Amino acid sequence: MGPRHFQCIAQQRACGKPPVMPQTGSDVPGKRRTGKLGKLVVVMADVIVAGAGPTGMMLAAELTLAGVDAAIVERRPTPELVGSRAGGFHSRTIEILDQRGIADQFLAEGQRVQAAFFGNTKLDVSDFPTRHPYTLGLWQNHIERILAGWIEELGVPVQRGLEVADFDQDHGGVDVRLADGGRMQAQYLVGADGGRSAVRKAAGIEFPGWDATRSSLIAEVQVTEETPAGARIDEVGIHGLHLMEDGRTTRVIVTEKELGPATEPGLADLAKALTEVYDTDFGVHHPRWISRFTDATRQAATYRSGRVLLAGDAAHIHAPSGGQGIGLGIQDAVNLGWKLAQVVKGITPASLLDTYHAERHPAGARALKHTMAQSLMQRADPRIGALADTVAGLLAIDEARKQVVGLISGLDVHYDLGEGHPLLGRRIPDLDIATAGGPLRVFTLLHQARPVLLNLGAPGSIDPGPWAERVQVVDAAYDGGWELPVIGPVSAPAAVLVRPDGHVAWTGDGTQSGLQEALARWFGPARG
Ligand SMILES: Cc1cc2nc3c(=O)[nH]c(=O)nc-3n(C[C@H](O)[C@H](O)[C@H](O)COP(=O)(O)OP(=O)(O)OC[C@H]3O[C@@H](n4cnc5c(N)ncnc54)[C@H](O)[C@@H]3O)c2cc1C
Repeated sequence: MGPRHFQCIAQQRACGKPPVMPQTGSDVPGKRRTGKLGKLVVVMADVIVAGAGPTGMMLAAELTLAGVDAAIVERRPTPELVGSRAGGFHSRTIEILDQRGIADQFLAEGQRVQAAFFGNTKLDVSDFPTRHPYTLGLWQNHIERILAGWIEELGVPVQRGLEVADFDQDHGGVDVRLADGGRMQAQYLVGADGGRSAVRKAAGIEFPGWDATRSSLIAEVQVTEETPAGARIDEVGIHGLHLMEDGRTTRVIVTEKELGPATEPGLADLAKALTEVYDTDFGVHHPRWISRFTDATRQAATYRSGRVLLAGDAAHIHAPSGGQGIGLGIQDAVNLGWKLAQVVKGITPASLLDTYHAERHPAGARALKHTMAQSLMQRADPRIGALADTVAGLLAIDEARKQVVGLISGLDVHYDLGEGHPLLGRRIPDLDIATAGGPLRVFTLLHQARPVLLNLGAPGSIDPGPWAERVQVVDAAYDGGWELPVIGPVSAPAAVLVRPDGHVAWTGDGTQSGLQEALARWFGPARG
């Protein structure tokens, strides 16, 4: 499915198409008010997504699957991510990619590890009730390459080499200003533009939290000396060097003795930090990438300001301990995508967007709290060491391990949709069901990001009424058990209404009690 229309006017490099005459907003059919044109770019889409990181790409894909014109504006001139950055993601993220039918591409390239870490404590995840009870090790540059291939197939336009600088919004839409003076117009703007989000700043959204107490350098370099195996933890923090897949490049992470400045680090900074820990800089040279990250932890006070929303690192930053950043961003994207698409299409009122903040802000806050605790324990002064030992001891208790793995894996996310069956607000398990068309996995029904009403009772016994066009109704048989991560076995529902993000919006007890309310709440009022 490609975008219905996407205009790039008068600045050839923005989209590679020949320039045409500039227009004002009012000249463009179906679009909004007259705006004064500064420079000669007007790009129009229903939704402009700032940033083509994992979050922005996932969100644009979700919007496109839902039939909305989404365009990404990305500062980087090329799709390649310089440096490997993140090292992978957890079960729920794999499940979400599975819900869209693209998990296999990631699984084919990554390494499955049946463990997760809390601080430095290794936790078994292999007994979790999911098709993917493991962590997937895959560098972020590969993750982004695969996502970029997917959104290209979907026809999502990505305007590279353009930077969102500012915007104005009113009741009709958003005028986006680019750093080079260009302009873009959309009904909605989503800032998926990373931790230093220009969109968040321009929206005046507060970003409360905690300043950095520690900084680390991360780099890909060549070395002339042999490097020690494994990670080292001392009173400064955690450090490690290891050879990458190409057999030549060494990936280095070294915690700095003093909190580093906000400026970009260089080879001399890396050599100094290494020498302070290892008494040698290992002869580091030819850096391919050097960057600095910290344990600063902050979360946007609101994920929505009118027609502007935030997702991913733009909405929350934290220490990379535990490896949850990509997963949080992907979960933001799949929570927001279908809601925003319905609002853009006029199916649901804009107030549905408030449920994005209501659901994702608490989920983010919870993860941030745990990453703060984890990063603290990646240090080995005697007191912290005593705390880490105590926590490791507690995590040997099965119940405690399950609680923490549930959080790190993202499998325990529970949106507060009110009282009811334990499935309500939680993700639907990927059951093997039998349908008239043959055996099927439940996640297959979510590939097109459409809601599903799964009837597990007598065929034809559930009727969505006026919502029939908006919801897929599937009669199915399932005689296996229902087990939820952390919670354990739960009773089998007679039917479930599943949102496009895979979370359960209603469960049936053999009657249709509450179904209409749930359909109206999530998929808009009944029509005619
Ligand atoms: C050392 C390290 C290790 C990590 N390890 C893990 C891990 O193992 N697992 C994990 O899940 N996470 C990990 N993370 C975190 C993860 O990298 C981030 O959480 C993730 O990249 C966030 O994705 P995003 O799309 O929200 O933001 P980003 O990846 O930051 O993407 C934002 C995009 O927006 C673009 N952009 C920025 N400003 C503008 C603008 N004004 N206009 C247009 N475009 C703009 C940027 O160029 C970028 O492409 C790690 C992070 C670090 C630093």
